[in-house]
Amino acid sequence: MTTEANPASNDLDALIIGAGFSGMYQLLCLRDRLGLSARVLEAGDGVGGTWYWNRYPGARCDSESHSYCYSFSRELLQEWEWSERYPGQAEILRYLDFVAERFDLKRDIRLGTRVVSAHYDAFSNRWRVTTEKGEHFTAKFLITAVGCLSTANVPAIPGLEHFEGRWFHTGQWPHEGVDFTGKRVGQIGTGSTGIQSAPVIAETAAHLTVFQRTANYSVPARNAPLTPEFKQWVREHQDDIQAITHSTPNAHPFRIADRSVFDVTPEERQAIYEAAWEKGGLQFRATFRDLLLSKEANDTAREFLRGKIREIVKDPKTAKALADIDHPYAAKRPPIDTNYFETFNRDNVSLVDVRKDPIVAITPTGVRTRKKDHPLDLIVFATGFDAMTGPLLRIDIRGRDTLSLADAWHAGPRNYLGLQVAGFPNLFTITGPGSPSVLCNMPIPIEQHVEWITDCIAHMRRHGLTRIEPREDAVDDWVEKVNAAAAATLLPQAHHSWYLGANVPGKPRVFMPYAGGMVRYRKICEEVVAKGYEGFVLSR
Ligand code: NAP
Repeated sequence: MTTEANPASNDLDALIIGAGFSGMYQLLCLRDRLGLSARVLEAGDGVGGTWYWNRYPGARCDSESHSYCYSFSRELLQEWEWSERYPGQAEILRYLDFVAERFDLKRDIRLGTRVVSAHYDAFSNRWRVTTEKGEHFTAKFLITAVGCLSTANVPAIPGLEHFEGRWFHTGQWPHEGVDFTGKRVGQIGTGSTGIQSAPVIAETAAHLTVFQRTANYSVPARNAPLTPEFKQWVREHQDDIQAITHSTPNAHPFRIADRSVFDVTPEERQAIYEAAWEKGGLQFRATFRDLLLSKEANDTAREFLRGKIREIVKDPKTAKALADIDHPYAAKRPPIDTNYFETFNRDNVSLVDVRKDPIVAITPTGVRTRKKDHPLDLIVFATGFDAMTGPLLRIDIRGRDTLSLADAWHAGPRNYLGLQVAGFPNLFTITGPGSPSVLCNMPIPIEQHVEWITDCIAHMRRHGLTRIEPREDAVDDWVEKVNAAAAATLLPQAHHSWYLGANVPGKPRVFMPYAGGMVRYRKICEEVVAKGYEGFVLSR
């Protein structure tokens, strides 16, 4: 195995696809800790992954800033200071750029380079990777760091190609921004993204029409600048913060209350929900430990949150449509917002319930629903992503005997620990399906996956091993565990969620992330290693 990095060569120890949180840390670990020749290929013209692409109005992280960062470097934790409770897109992008400079990563990141295929050659035990521009690379290890939400889902609504205005998907937002001033804007989609963008668009648009298919819960973020005292506290309590993020299932910097919904009286419960509403953010989900385990328990949160919508939104018809939510609270990814429901009290905002009045076409001048034409100058698709499998399957990945990943996963993703696929030796998938990833505060699983992969490669080098892939029975077992973990919760009850692949027509309905929590997942990964990489075949 090569140990000397040769920056000029396209023949590498490790090739990493994607320069977001995952890919950058993976590069640092393999290059600087193991001394491998490693390179990142990144489709964008800058580092940052999700935060490079998602520049839509209002884009902001739902994880609190003091936990939405790398924790591997004490120095880095001291050097960077966040300005707000929830970091905005521009600030996160600045942070990731700072990290890239700080650790001298950019010299091994090739920007503007989209990988189109990656084929495993069993004879040489190397991955042959081709880019859109026709460049070729080979590497012993191929590591995908492509993110879970990076393949935009633009619904195939007839007529879009003839629309005479401009249209944008939130995940591919123009760098120069979009001027809504004086424009009639239509926004399709009310997920986490749409709930963030609508209030900001409404501030300058002449009129905003929100097309809602599935009504959604949202809790106020209560975003605010961080006080000097809090910033100081963060600097002095990094160990305490990490102790919490590493011991809670969702890896957020707050604990889930150790009480059940029916342990308290209705009055106490109301007070708890009120306090959480006032505090704001995803902590609302942490008010009781059984909110996602029992329908009866969840119904209490559901009714509280629906009541809030009816309280805030003045027009009863609009309030009714917004509160007509068909799934348990947090069974879809729970959004948090800044003035989302309040936005519907503005004179220049209207809601169209497309469950009752479906979109039938896009005309040259706007959106046509069954009952009405909605004239528009601009359409914003806040319609989400072909999540988790999409970013992997749009690359032509072929393993042993030219088996394509698309064929291997035709009935849904199948892998071991979310990290490796049987038949695809030396391919690692950071935050792949089957990982806790999107159910968590992402930097925590990302760091765990990257460190696990790094340790695994180091182990192979120490023992002269050159190939690793999971056994089929280990994959079967993991798929069962992923299914069982989801089935033990209310998560699969949101039939239309992207967790299930239900937002993309024709996609297999499989609950993709591991819902057993980050703590359990970390322990499983550690046990696998302690038992000599149980479930993997390692060979020379
Ligand atoms: P999403 O949750 O999948 O929401 C997409 C929205 O578009 C849904 O309301 C969906 O309706 C609607 N939609 C899709 N196709 C449609 C069609 N043909 N006609 C009408 N409506 C349609 O996508 P997202 O809001 O971009 O969020 C995706 C994920 O990204 C989030 O869940 C979260 O994990 C992450 N995210 C995070 C942050 C953050 O941290 N702040 C912000 C944004 C996003 P249905 O529900 O009926 O399918």
